[in-house]
Amino acid sequence: MSLLRFEDVSKSYGDEEVLHDVSFELDARDVEVIVGPSGSGKSTLLRCVNRLTEIDGGAIYLDGEDVHAMDENVLRRHVGMVFQDFNLFAHRTARGNVTLGLTEVLGLSEREADERAEQYLRRVGVADQAESYPAELSGGQKQRVGIARALAMDPDLMLFDEPTSALDPELVGEVLGVMRDLADDGMTMLAVTHEMGFARSVASRLTFLEDGRIVERGPPERLFEQPDHDRTREFLGELT
Ligand code: ADP
Ligand code: MG
Repeated sequence: MSLLRFEDVSKSYGDEEVLHDVSFELDARDVEVIVGPSGSGKSTLLRCVNRLTEIDGGAIYLDGEDVHAMDENVLRRHVGMVFQDFNLFAHRTARGNVTLGLTEVLGLSEREADERAEQYLRRVGVADQAESYPAELSGGQKQRVGIARALAMDPDLMLFDEPTSALDPELVGEVLGVMRDLADDGMTMLAVTHEMGFARSVASRLTFLEDGRIVERGPPERLFEQPDHDRTREFLGELT
């Protein structure tokens, strides 16, 4: 059974249909990269998975279960999300950002949460910054804390919404490196990113979304070398 399945998903804001009959499936350990122009519906697509946005038509299944029928807290325990602008709590340390969900959602004791936070901050290479506040961290460190926070919940699926777009160019590599390690460890990932080096070397599938529709989807090398659609060729050509 697929880990994630979109079945004719549609979503409108007012008169504007932002997702039109989007269908695709992701197996466990797949790494899917989504690309597309600004406003094409990439963030909306990701946000529908953990119901930060509710869909209007179709259905989304996580491990066979309709996400619409799931308790939101349970759903968000299974699906971690990393945001372009980090979304860290400014008044909490790096460690405090990671422990919050562990104590509040998973119900761990402070001590268990601290230990688990330590472990995940180490895993993404920011253990030395555990007591720092977000304002004291570089963009790359902030994003790695964001990833640690999501991972510490032990999700089945990780969503990344342009995780490196807000970073200075010299900091992009450290975040992509963490994502690459995660993929190597078998994490199932759905990532919106225009880092095509990452897509080519890590993604199992590349999806080109335009005007809320999947124009083309397949192995990255095929979309780059032999796309079925001129639009895919044009768009990918602009990125590389
Ligand atoms: P992308 O991430 O590909 O840039 P989005 O999913 O953010 O695209 O947005 C797709 C379209 O939906 C855009 O036209 C955007 O203006 C619109 N949109 C996104 N979120 C909202 C919202 N909360 N209310 C109204 N329109 C929205
Ligand atoms: Mg977006």
